[in-house]
Amino acid sequence: MLISLVVPCFDEEEIIGRFHERVTEELFLLEQEYELVYVDDGSQDRTLPLLRDIADADPRVRYVSFSRNFGKEAAMLAGLQHAKGEAVVIMDADLQHPPELVKRMLALYGEGFDQVIARRTRKGDRVTRTLTARAYYRLINRFVDVELVDGVGDFRLLSRRTVDAALELTEYNRFSKGIFAWVGFRTTAFAYENAVRERGRSTWSFGKLLNYGLDGVLSFNNRPLRAALCLGMLLLAVAMAYAAWIVGVALVNGVDTPGYVTLLVAVIALAGVQMLMLGVVGEYVGRIYYEVKRRPHFLVKATDADLRRQDDDERHRCTGELVRR
Ligand code: UDP
Ligand code: MG
Repeated sequence: MLISLVVPCFDEEEIIGRFHERVTEELFLLEQEYELVYVDDGSQDRTLPLLRDIADADPRVRYVSFSRNFGKEAAMLAGLQHAKGEAVVIMDADLQHPPELVKRMLALYGEGFDQVIARRTRKGDRVTRTLTARAYYRLINRFVDVELVDGVGDFRLLSRRTVDAALELTEYNRFSKGIFAWVGFRTTAFAYENAVRERGRSTWSFGKLLNYGLDGVLSFNNRPLRAALCLGMLLLAVAMAYAAWIVGVALVNGVDTPGYVTLLVAVIALAGVQMLMLGVVGEYVGRIYYEVKRRPHFLVKATDADLRRQDDDERHRCTGELVRR
């Protein structure tokens, strides 16, 4: 049985060599046939040449390199498409996903699970981040169709049929957490202690996290649209009731001018709500726009196949010369 490890890498020159060593050590102990699929997500540093060297030295290593940075989601997609294994493990290149856990994942896979998820604890995280995450997951699970769990990321083992199913979902806006949860099959999870990034730095800024969070809400349901509708109806009802009240009071007491404050507040509040709802609609329209364009998720610049072909050519040339001599 062949297992594949898919590793998205973006500007990981500082750690990729160490990562490869660690993973190889660990996989060697498993006595398991494996392949490593590195995906270079348009790194600007020396990640690609390093990957080339690694692949040159080890025939079990394959790589795909993008023409530019397409994001981790695209990188994972490319990795899954290229992986040939019966089981596929997705793993970060920064050693925050401990390679020794692969063994445990395989054991659980052997017990018949299709998805084995390693869920990280939030130990060592900043308190603010932990709290935002907790609040976010509580909120989001009210909305989305699939269940998302805090600490569950992309570090997981997928069986062949799960991978094939995930690849069937060809949407442009990919939110892997949701996609894998949507696919389902027999799933299990275990917790591991979060490791601090050793070298390099995380590319997640606050803005990126916010975008990712919004993707989570918007990619998996249309409830925000429904919420807009309900809120609109509610506001309309309140406004009608208020109008009736004013008319009633005017009939009894006669008209009095004060009340422009109420008026102004109502106008501004309504304008705000309208803008918000327009924004929600806009988000969905934007998503549709990207979907209908049917653009590829990524463009490939180079793969290990080029490297191997080069090697072969060289070998042929050498033997050709020998024969001629
Ligand atoms: N990554 C990627 N493309 C990107 C950003 C990140 O392929 O645009 C990779 C990165 O090389 C790493 C993994 O995704 O292997 C997780 O990235 P990072 O450590 O920055 O995220 P965090 O661990 O903070 O979630
Ligand atoms: Mg990381």
